[in-house]
Amino acid sequence: MQTADKFRRFELGADSDVSVSFEFFPPKSEKMEASLWSAVQRLEPLAPSFVSVTYGAGGSTRERTHRTVKRLVDETGLAPAAHLTCVGSSRDEVDAIVRDYHDIGVRHIVALRGDPLEGLGARYTPQPDGYAYASDLVEGIRRIADFEVSVSAYPELHPESADWTVEIDNLKRKVDAGATRAITQYFFENDMFETFMEKVRAAGIDIPIVPGILPIVNFEQTMVFSAKCGTSIPHWLARRFAGLDKDVETRKLVASAVACEQVLDLVDRGVSDFHFYTMNRADLTYAICHMLGLRPAPEEKQAA
Ligand code: FAD
Repeated sequence: MQTADKFRRFELGADSDVSVSFEFFPPKSEKMEASLWSAVQRLEPLAPSFVSVTYGAGGSTRERTHRTVKRLVDETGLAPAAHLTCVGSSRDEVDAIVRDYHDIGVRHIVALRGDPLEGLGARYTPQPDGYAYASDLVEGIRRIADFEVSVSAYPELHPESADWTVEIDNLKRKVDAGATRAITQYFFENDMFETFMEKVRAAGIDIPIVPGILPIVNFEQTMVFSAKCGTSIPHWLARRFAGLDKDVETRKLVASAVACEQVLDLVDRGVSDFHFYTMNRADLTYAICHMLGLRPAPEEKQAA
């Protein structure tokens, strides 16, 4: 690390130029609802640029996403971004959801294709009367109103993309359709992200590409999910969590150290925006944001 870079870390203070966003999932029970709202309350003072709520194709999940987004609008000063997918709905149904969001004051949508109803890994077939891919959905949303539209990006390739040309062409299609930001799938190797960014910029894609950071709450589950979504688990990462299956406290400290190391290294590489997959928990994300120099905003600023 060069001296100037080393100092950059120490400059991360009250006036940090780092910007963060937080992702939540809609709760399934009253207990989960309570823990989500306590996480939201803990993280809100860090003044994220937006908070997003994930979306599932089933009817009840859809409802829960809408309810969570509405509650964020009604009860917080946060800017919510509603995730939306193409799966299981006609274009008319999706358009109606988009209009509903606009009516309640939402101005940011995370537009995704989504995974098949049968689950991650099953073969995807577009619904005949639906939006087929995320790029089509972005175009549809932009036709309805002037939303901010975020899309996905994959530093390790989407599992269905045959090669990098296919991957980058798809991202470019989404940008040409009107996407204003991309959020990446989580990853653990920053070199891979940097190589990906070189490909993205070389293709003339100039929207912000925000790294998705996953603080690891449960390593076993992370391994299972990563195998399905195409994120590699480096050997060094597995070694750090080895032997901690039953040691919750140490696991949490290690998870925080690992994610801090990752984000601070990304700062050294010039990254200033981060999207956190919070898993509806505040503790790890709050600690990592603190290390990034973020401090609770004064109360009058939060109320504004
Ligand atoms: P797309 O960008 O449409 O691409 C998917 C694949 O299809 C790629 O391999 C692409 O190359 C290929 N493709 C694109 N266009 C075409 C075409 N015209 N013909 C043939 N192939 C094509 N899932 C949820 O269900 N709910 C969520 O809330 C959610 N949130 C997410 C948030 C982020 C930040 C990320 C990274 C992922 C999220 N996902 C979510 C997962 C996502 O839905 C899956 O990864 C899904 O498999 C792909 O969605 P996408 O928007 O990336 O698809």
